[in-house]
Amino acid sequence: MDKKAAMKVSYVVGCGDDRGSFQGDWPEVCECVHCGKTAMLVFATVEDSGLDEYLCDRHINVPDNDAEGYWFHDATAWAVYICRRCFGATAKWNQA
Ligand SMILES: [Zn+2]
Repeated sequence: MDKKAAMKVSYVVGCGDDRGSFQGDWPEVCECVHCGKTAMLVFATVEDSGLDEYLCDRHINVPDNDAEGYWFHDATAWAVYICRRCFGATAKWNQA
């Protein structure tokens, strides 16, 4: 992949409101995808408007094409959780 400028995102430590999601609040905890125990929200990000490029611009979204597959169709928001048992990371995302 060509080196491209970093995308501008809003960064939220913890999350008690909807700044980190286009769809609603991120939960403060979730199930760890590695061990099934409780993972804690550590940060959330959301792509800002008015950018030259969004993550969705980096690849094409062609779900029916095995060579390409799914990709985002709009700006994304992300939340990252860390498990207190195994210290593994779990990520959740949604789109505008
Ligand atoms: Zn875990």
